[in-house]
Amino acid sequence: MASKAKLRGGIDLGGTKIQAVVVDADSKVLGSARHPTPTTGGPAAVAAEMAGALNEALEDADADAAKLQGVGVGSPGDVDAKAGTVARAGNLPDWERPFELGKALSDALGTPIALGNDVGVATEAEFQLGSGDPYQSLIGVFWGTGVGGGIILDGKQWHGRGGAGEIGHVVVQEDGARCPCGRHGCMEAYAGRGAMEAKARKEHDDGRKTDLFKIMKKHDRVRLTSGIWQRALDADDKLAHELIDRAVDAIGTAVASVVNVLDVEAVIIGGGLGVRLGEPYAKKIEKRARKNLFNDSRPPDFRVASLGDFGGAIGAALLVDGARPS
Ligand SMILES: [Zn+2]
Repeated sequence: MASKAKLRGGIDLGGTKIQAVVVDADSKVLGSARHPTPTTGGPAAVAAEMAGALNEALEDADADAAKLQGVGVGSPGDVDAKAGTVARAGNLPDWERPFELGKALSDALGTPIALGNDVGVATEAEFQLGSGDPYQSLIGVFWGTGVGGGIILDGKQWHGRGGAGEIGHVVVQEDGARCPCGRHGCMEAYAGRGAMEAKARKEHDDGRKTDLFKIMKKHDRVRLTSGIWQRALDADDKLAHELIDRAVDAIGTAVASVVNVLDVEAVIIGGGLGVRLGEPYAKKIEKRARKNLFNDSRPPDFRVASLGDFGGAIGAALLVDGARPS
C-alpha cells in the first residue's frame, strides 16, 4: 500500500506550548519540535508558529513536507472539523471568533490538515497506542492548567453532541469554590493548575509560608508549572502538599461519579501534572475514588498516560486520513 510509506504530522496546540511531531505509519515518532505559544499577534501568529514547529519536526525527522500524507491538529476551544475552524480558544491570544486554522496551515505547509479537539485526540492516542490499549472502555483525565476528559465506550469515542467529557466540571462541592468556567464547586476549581495557583497566591499574600513562588523565581518561571509543583513537593512544602492533596481528593471524587455512571474498565491519568506526578499520585487518586465507587468490588484499573508529553501530538497525527484502523 503506497500510503504506508507516507509520514504524518501531528501538532498539539496548548496554552503555553506547541508540540509538533512527525510519525511513520506505525505512529512511531521520527522527529519532534516544541515552540512556546505566542502570547500576542492573535490566531495568525499562532498558526505561523505551529507551521514553524512542524517544519522543525520535519527537519528533525530528516524528511520534507512532500513526504507528508497530512497533518493533524489537536486544538483547545470550539473545533469545527468540517469547516476547519477554531473559535473561543480560551487560553490563546485574541482567539474568540472562528479562525480558519485548517486553511492557514494548509497554505503554510502545502498538505491537508485535519482538526480535532485536544483532549479527544490525546484520549484516542492513549486508547490506540498507550496505556488504554488493553481496554474497550475508559475515561482519560488530563490534569493540567484545567482538567479535561475524554470518553471511550465500546471501542469508540463518545462525543455526545460535541461537548462530552468535561470531567473538570463535575460538581464535587455544592455551591463550592468558583471555577474558571464561572460556575461553583466544579472539580477544576480545586484541581486545575490555574485554580491551584490562584489559591496558592492568595494564601501566600495572606501570610502563609510557602516556597512555591521562591522555587518559581529560581527556575525563571512566571507560573507555577507542573515542574514547580513537583519540586515543592520534593522539598516538603506544606502548602504544596495541602493543595495537591486537595486536588487529588477533587479528582478522585469526580472520577468516582463518572465511573458510577459509565462503569468503564479503566481510568487513564494524563496531562502535565498527571504525567509529572505519575504513578504515586495516580494511586492516591484511585484510593480517593474507591471511597465513592458504588460497585466497589469491581473497581476500574487506574493507569498513568504512557505517551507522556507527545500524546496529544501523536493523537493529532491519528486524525490524518487512513491513520485510523478500520
Ligand atoms: Zn467549571
